[in-house]
Amino acid sequence: MKVLKFGGTSVGSINNIRKVKEIITDGNKKIVVLSAMSGTTNALVQISELIKNKQVNEAFQNIETLHEKYKLVLDELIEETSIKLDVTNYIDSVFDFLKSCTSKKHSELLYNKIVSQGELLSTYFFTKYLHQEGVNARLLPALDFMRIDKTNDPDDFYIQQNLQRIIDQALPADIYITQGFICLNAFGEIANLQRGGSDYTATIIGAVVKAEEVQIWTDIDGMHNNDPRFVENTHAISNLSFDEAAELAYFGAKILHPQTVMPAREANIPVRLKNTMDPESYGTLISKDFKGEGIKAIAAKDGITAIKIKSARMLLAHGFLKKVFEIFEKYETAIDMITTSEIAVSLTIDDDKNLNAIIDELEKFSTVEVDNQQSIICLVGHLVVRHHETHRLFQVLQDISVRMISYGGSNNNISLLVSSNDKITALKCLNAYIFDFATA
Ligand code: ASP
Repeated sequence: MKVLKFGGTSVGSINNIRKVKEIITDGNKKIVVLSAMSGTTNALVQISELIKNKQVNEAFQNIETLHEKYKLVLDELIEETSIKLDVTNYIDSVFDFLKSCTSKKHSELLYNKIVSQGELLSTYFFTKYLHQEGVNARLLPALDFMRIDKTNDPDDFYIQQNLQRIIDQALPADIYITQGFICLNAFGEIANLQRGGSDYTATIIGAVVKAEEVQIWTDIDGMHNNDPRFVENTHAISNLSFDEAAELAYFGAKILHPQTVMPAREANIPVRLKNTMDPESYGTLISKDFKGEGIKAIAAKDGITAIKIKSARMLLAHGFLKKVFEIFEKYETAIDMITTSEIAVSLTIDDDKNLNAIIDELEKFSTVEVDNQQSIICLVGHLVVRHHETHRLFQVLQDISVRMISYGGSNNNISLLVSSNDKITALKCLNAYIFDFATA
């Protein structure tokens, strides 16, 4: 069985919803994971924000506007009278619920309940549309089986037991539809897998049902070799290993939620990235196989803070790094890049929630310098560190100012830290030196 996930734009217009129906009705049994229609989760986040700020009238207005949008889609997509009534009632109940939230006290749980409505709407809608078109589809509510534990990791045992149970109990179907993104937490409350988390839902499900393949359908033809928003003439990469894809997803390739690769890698299930608007194009296949050597792709991650920790006590001393790491551990702050010299350590973090407390502790035994608004540029490929063409990367250094380099930490990744102001120039330069030069 395959698991297919469709993103917001794939279910974001009548035309695309029809395309999705064509793609999934190929005669093979499958599980289909859906995101909310594009724009919906952002609208829900904004509604929650307005409620938090006690802007009740504005929240009401936004709820009405979103409701109108759904009524329009309903009018165009569903013709059959009894199904139309059903969907109308469902949509009305969701928007009544949202309106009832405007008088509630804001909390994380309320936020989670509000943002979950997008996936609940899209899956209900789509399942009913499939019924109208004569497709034997069943809705499997994600909240009946998808759960995370206290460390926010998927509770695989619970998911497997419950998913199997509800599939066994459901009437036989050709297509099972479920919500991406939403889940229960360890206390049984409604939660989610973070923004963009529907991809992660798909690979979690893929791993527990031992799917033959997980497909992530979006509006782009695979993972690109550079960021198409900033660099011209990028192209989709046909094959990536799990490790390469994980690095790219973590370091900024927006097409995949960063944790998506993990369950697939552990269960060795290939993940194929496909384009709903161009189903025939090959896309990107992510699997355990390494194909080709050298730099395959470049991605950039913004919002990075660089911290330089200097101490004369580091000279010829041991235990200094341990002391530094313990502080980051205490504040549950992950470190991405690190470089060291005899008297200083530079490292980067992307979560600066506890930055002030961390600095206070570091300053007890060192001098600390902080640079905000940095970007990590990550070059990914098999054996990049050893590959004979990797030296081209260093030619770029004459054109841009690089704050840190991480080389050799893994065979698949070289990372550069630059000021975010230089990011686009750096991406363009690297593209010219590495990819254009290679094809010239
Ligand atoms: N709808 C959620 C979001 O916009 C989850 C997803 O689309 O993957 O973040």
